[in-house]
Amino acid sequence: MGREQKRRQEARKAKQLVQSGKAERRPLLPEEAADLFSAIDKGEVQSFGIARLAGLRLDDLHQAPWCFAWGPASRMTLADFAALRGRDSFVSALITAGADPSGVGVQVWEKLPRAYACWLARAAARLRLEATPDTCRCGGPGAEFPPCGHRCCARCFWSPFKDFVSGRLPELTCFCGQRLEDSSLEFPAQRRGILRLGPASGESCRTCRCRLPLSRDSDSACLNCAQPPFAAPKPAKPAERIASASSLCGDLSGLLPSCWRLWRRARTVRRWKSLPEELPQDLQERQKLQAAWDLKANGSGKRMAGAFKALSPAQVATEKLGLTRSARSERLRLAAEVGDARRVEALLEAGCDLDAPNAPRAS
Ligand SMILES: [Zn+2]
Ligand SMILES: [Zn+2]
Ligand SMILES: [Zn+2]
Repeated sequence: MGREQKRRQEARKAKQLVQSGKAERRPLLPEEAADLFSAIDKGEVQSFGIARLAGLRLDDLHQAPWCFAWGPASRMTLADFAALRGRDSFVSALITAGADPSGVGVQVWEKLPRAYACWLARAAARLRLEATPDTCRCGGPGAEFPPCGHRCCARCFWSPFKDFVSGRLPELTCFCGQRLEDSSLEFPAQRRGILRLGPASGESCRTCRCRLPLSRDSDSACLNCAQPPFAAPKPAKPAERIASASSLCGDLSGLLPSCWRLWRRARTVRRWKSLPEELPQDLQERQKLQAAWDLKANGSGKRMAGAFKALSPAQVATEKLGLTRSARSERLRLAAEVGDARRVEALLEAGCDLDAPNAPRAS
């Protein structure tokens, strides 16, 4: 058997053990943990093969690398560090090998789109980093929950995930009902190998919370997220662009909202009509169509083709909207059926046939 073949067979076996819950796991030695943190930092994926990870206890806490060792969070998991560094493919490898980035035992990881799971890991790591003892309403260690500002604990904000099977994706939710919105979680992974530039004990970046080996008045970019470190992070995007647009119309006159609705209705149908009836037979043509859609869905094409990246609830709702008229209508029917408002909104924005049977009316 060739070496490559053997490696693949081992990987398959490890994956089966993880999925059946029978993987035998041992704790990491401190130096092994340090090596794995370093591999995440440098972007060395070869250390993160499933055959190796499946034999390790992945949710144990280790001495955190200096850049996120502040406050009470001087110990963290591998997945937390990967998430805070924006290294989504490492978070994904850890989840595949059975890691639970929630820290409170939610068993949903294989049921969620992987890119969304990685965004959740980013959010969980950030909230854990900032948690202080006994601050949640329930008495657990809570962190400030954006945008409502309550202090909420992991047990409370993960509760919508407890019984998830399929359908509308659950979201991290404060005890007051507010869903987490935080655009500062969306930075792309930046340079490799920042750990060798420290340790430093200065302030932390206001966007990603990485400690900065810089003086206060320096205006250079953060090592981890590349944002100006002392600038206030961008405020969370208004949840519904449409809501703000129609309230603006409402201020002007009672007539405008209905104009807006009519205009929107015409626009969504026009966009739907621009879709092909069927997918092109030719593979290249089909890829071209997909690429054009991806570009449209991601604005200026900020996401590199093929690059794996964490997606927020709003972003994941704009994925896979269907490339043909019938596929689009089917997606709309499914989203409406489970009451997924984010998805319905994304589909209306992309273009839908509102006269199709069972389709909800545009609002
Ligand atoms: Zn709580
Ligand atoms: Zn709240
Ligand atoms: Zn930063």
